[in-house]
Amino acid sequence: MLGTLVRYLRFLGYDTRSATEIGPGGAEEDNLLLRLAVEEGRILLTRDRELARRGGILVPEDDVLDQVAALARAGLVEPVLRLDRCSRCNTPLRPATRKEADTAPFVAGRDETRFLWCPACRRLYWSGSHVDRLTERLDRVARMVHHSRR
Ligand SMILES: [Zn+2]
Repeated sequence: MLGTLVRYLRFLGYDTRSATEIGPGGAEEDNLLLRLAVEEGRILLTRDRELARRGGILVPEDDVLDQVAALARAGLVEPVLRLDRCSRCNTPLRPATRKEADTAPFVAGRDETRFLWCPACRRLYWSGSHVDRLTERLDRVARMVHHSRR
């Protein structure tokens, strides 16, 4: 249920596992998630009040920017785009080879653009309008956090 937040946290560079990629579902899943969080030193984010009570952090906000802002206010994340981790599978990105970068559709300013590659799902990332939009949204989050501190 926090799929969008998972993607955002990965864009921010945080090593993030998604419950939908782990869980068997049902009551078993809560125990498994709580155990994994301890074993792997992770913070468990959840929309489930009962699970939050047992050792997670409740994320009641519906909008992903509100969610990121709440986590930033709690001092858990810094709302800064790092783009060093695959948003789809969490694998650290590496600079793309020329050949990998050439799989991109037309990219303006191609020679100056930094192309990154996910070796696990063979996905290419580059700074472009979608990254600009993401940066704008995160700037908005940073302002939300800043204002609430005053
Ligand atoms: Zn990937």
